[in-house]
Amino acid sequence: MAGSVKAFGWAAGDPSGLLSPFDFSRRPTGDRDVQFKVLYCGICHSDLHAVKNDWGFSTYPMVPGHEVVGVVTEVGSKVQKFRVGDKVGVGCLVDSCRKCDQCANNLENYCPKPVSVYNTVLPDGTTTYGGYSDIMVADEDFVIRWSENLPMDKGAPLLCAGITIYSSLRYYGLDEPGLHIGVVGLGGLGHVAVKFIKAFGSKVTVISTSVGKKKEALESLSADAFVVSSYPAEMQAAAGSLDGIIDTVSAHHPIEPLLSLLKPHGKLIILGVPKKPLELPVFSLIMARRTVAGSMVGGLKETQEMIDFAAKHNILPDVEMISMDYVNTAMERLEKADVKYRFVIDVGRTLKKGE
Ligand SMILES: [Zn+2]
Ligand SMILES: [Zn+2]
Repeated sequence: MAGSVKAFGWAAGDPSGLLSPFDFSRRPTGDRDVQFKVLYCGICHSDLHAVKNDWGFSTYPMVPGHEVVGVVTEVGSKVQKFRVGDKVGVGCLVDSCRKCDQCANNLENYCPKPVSVYNTVLPDGTTTYGGYSDIMVADEDFVIRWSENLPMDKGAPLLCAGITIYSSLRYYGLDEPGLHIGVVGLGGLGHVAVKFIKAFGSKVTVISTSVGKKKEALESLSADAFVVSSYPAEMQAAAGSLDGIIDTVSAHHPIEPLLSLLKPHGKLIILGVPKKPLELPVFSLIMARRTVAGSMVGGLKETQEMIDFAAKHNILPDVEMISMDYVNTAMERLEKADVKYRFVIDVGRTLKKGE
């Protein structure tokens, strides 16, 4: 492409998912584009699915990364919201059709023609590349303003994990004070869910298969209660007590025991993506008018709102900072859920050419 910009990152070349250094180019900064130097990028569990082609639509070479924060280095002539030196972020989307009802209602994440920050082939045949790289170029409408008092390193995972939780709580009315909400699975999404629910002023019960997480849930994350899902007495004691449940588990699991924890009219919101369909216990839904629903990230307006909310309430994911050349080990550990709770790559300091 004429005037294209040289970029460098780490890419997976095939479904082995193994990442290695990769030279590529980005489009030159257009009139409405913001170019920024990437400083930090979170590793989301879906990056792992994508590099391994678990969902069957991966294109290679693939530069993953959709929790990208950095500092603006160049703006196009028509850019209004950003200036060089501003702190910014880019999440899962870098464009959408801008014509459909979803786009018109600031729900670009539900647009039928989204342009993902990576793994989307554009009409001109080029592929989008994500944040495991030195620079990013995106239309200003898809760039988030980073709050001054929000740390960029720890905050990076908010751009996917944070908005996924925030949007689901808001849309399903689980964002009011005084509710009692359950969180299933204490991983990247689950631990952020505990923090947002507490900030909204509700009580949180963590539901987990692992009693080993109890101390941490109650002490480090300040959850109000902990239920071990394999202990019938504990499940029984908590029956009918929850207004809503945020289910972040992506392994196959029965939802009947979770539905039994809901009050009448309670909502089970599923955010994890098990490979096989879950069984729907209809009787439990009908008899108490319960809802089972799903949700995914959020639109750009809501993502900005979430970042501002997180800054105001000091909500930060718990992260383990890693260097770029550790990424393959991090992916292996992520697969075994061996991280508390999110890896963030220190791209700015550790991505070096010639590695
Ligand atoms: Zn993600
Ligand atoms: Zn659209």
